[in-house]
Amino acid sequence: MGGAIVSSGKGSGKSSNKSTNHQAGENSNESCDLVIVGGGLAGSLTALTFATLKPDLQIRLIESGNILSGHQTWVFRESDVGAAAMDILRPLLSNSWSEYSVEFPKMKRSFSQNFHCIRSQDFHREVTAKLGSRILLDSKVNKMSDGFVVLESGKVIEGRCILDARGIDVAPEAGLSAFLKSIGIEFKLKSPHGLKSPVAVDANCPQLDGFRYFEVMPLDEKRLIVFENYYSDNPKLNRERIVRSLESYVQRKGWEKDSVLREETSVLPVPMVANLSASLTAGEPLQIGTRGGYFHSTTTDSLPDTLRIAEILSGVSDLSTASARETLMKFRRPILSRQRFYRILNRLMFFASEPTLRFNFFQNIYEMPQELIERFYAGRSSWSDRLRILRRRPAMPFSRTFSNLRERNLRDRLSSRHDTAPSSN
Ligand SMILES: Cc1cc2nc3c(=O)[nH]c(=O)nc-3n(C[C@H](O)[C@H](O)[C@H](O)COP(=O)(O)OP(=O)(O)OC[C@H]3O[C@@H](n4cnc5c(N)ncnc54)[C@H](O)[C@@H]3O)c2cc1C
Repeated sequence: MGGAIVSSGKGSGKSSNKSTNHQAGENSNESCDLVIVGGGLAGSLTALTFATLKPDLQIRLIESGNILSGHQTWVFRESDVGAAAMDILRPLLSNSWSEYSVEFPKMKRSFSQNFHCIRSQDFHREVTAKLGSRILLDSKVNKMSDGFVVLESGKVIEGRCILDARGIDVAPEAGLSAFLKSIGIEFKLKSPHGLKSPVAVDANCPQLDGFRYFEVMPLDEKRLIVFENYYSDNPKLNRERIVRSLESYVQRKGWEKDSVLREETSVLPVPMVANLSASLTAGEPLQIGTRGGYFHSTTTDSLPDTLRIAEILSGVSDLSTASARETLMKFRRPILSRQRFYRILNRLMFFASEPTLRFNFFQNIYEMPQELIERFYAGRSSWSDRLRILRRRPAMPFSRTFSNLRERNLRDRLSSRHDTAPSSN
């Protein structure tokens, strides 16, 4: 496979003075300024940020699939991101609303807040229009260093800066992670659904397999996408059962299905301890996106951090993997240390609370002031927010609460479990 080069005829970037060859299907080696491996949310948004802020830079965005970002839908509150990031995101938006609501067994609430959705088909189209032949699809990278990548076809692409945005491994070390998993179906209905704005959480359903909730987004008057999400102890998804459950949810709401237009599945780890797998080793590419551990530890959202990091990296004056790493090191600690609080919440949710009562954590947060909720989702909870959230935690045994506050305790428990485990020999 030589790899398909996307060409929209627009924005292919200026050629560098190094040897290059961009003919589709050709396998000759090439060289450029920035190589990004993985055309998911992080890789594509980073490429887009660089192309916008540094249009002279020669970029390659390499994706193993035949479409950027697979088949996914992302949502975010406008307060999750800054104004500069919003400028990058605006052309990619599939739908926007000025309010959203949540429903829990004991409360129902609406929020006046700009709420946006990006769907991968729109994302692919817009990013492709902007980046054109800088994107290489159907091109799996088999090997990489801080100065080059090798494609499955054998082609070598050298780069002054190499970023690894291949996404996170969903099979982390046992016991150190739970999972957020989801199936979403886009339905076309026979008549208008009448829903004006998204329902971000509908937890009025039996709490199976952890915190279970539906999420509904109206796309046009007869189309909507419904997700069934789980904060679960395991990554397994019973597709047949969940598809049936989504269909009966639609029926219960009084909506008559005309057809199913699309289905999407995602599973992501919900970490209990710091992401130690992310590498900052010299000689290796610099990891970004979920690969680098840059995501909200409780919600798993990576869009806000991805854009913060893209902005930081695009400010590096003499771009190389080493200079990008050095710059990111300065910002990494505050970005990642904020996640410590969300990992405490995860441990309380998963280890100190009963699975069927897990929904209480989110119900309590959604009862708090809107600004606190906005800071929570943006991953910027203040110290007083953190205290308020912990103080309002659902009732749970003191000893279990206490033993889960410190990350160290979990590591100790796990290592003593491994030490006392019988040998397999
Ligand atoms: C249920 C669920 C819902 C979520 N909803 C949101 C949301 O609404 N908002 C939000 O901000 N986040 C959301 N997330 C979290 C997270 O932001 C997304 O999962 C996001 O897509 C992660 O982006 P990424 O670019 O890091 O990884 P990915 O999207 O996984 O992208 C990695 C890319 O790298 C490619 N790749 C892998 N290996 C190679 C290789 N060897 N060579 C070339 N290419 C390769 C893959 O094909 C893929 O396209 C959600 C997660 C889950 C589980």
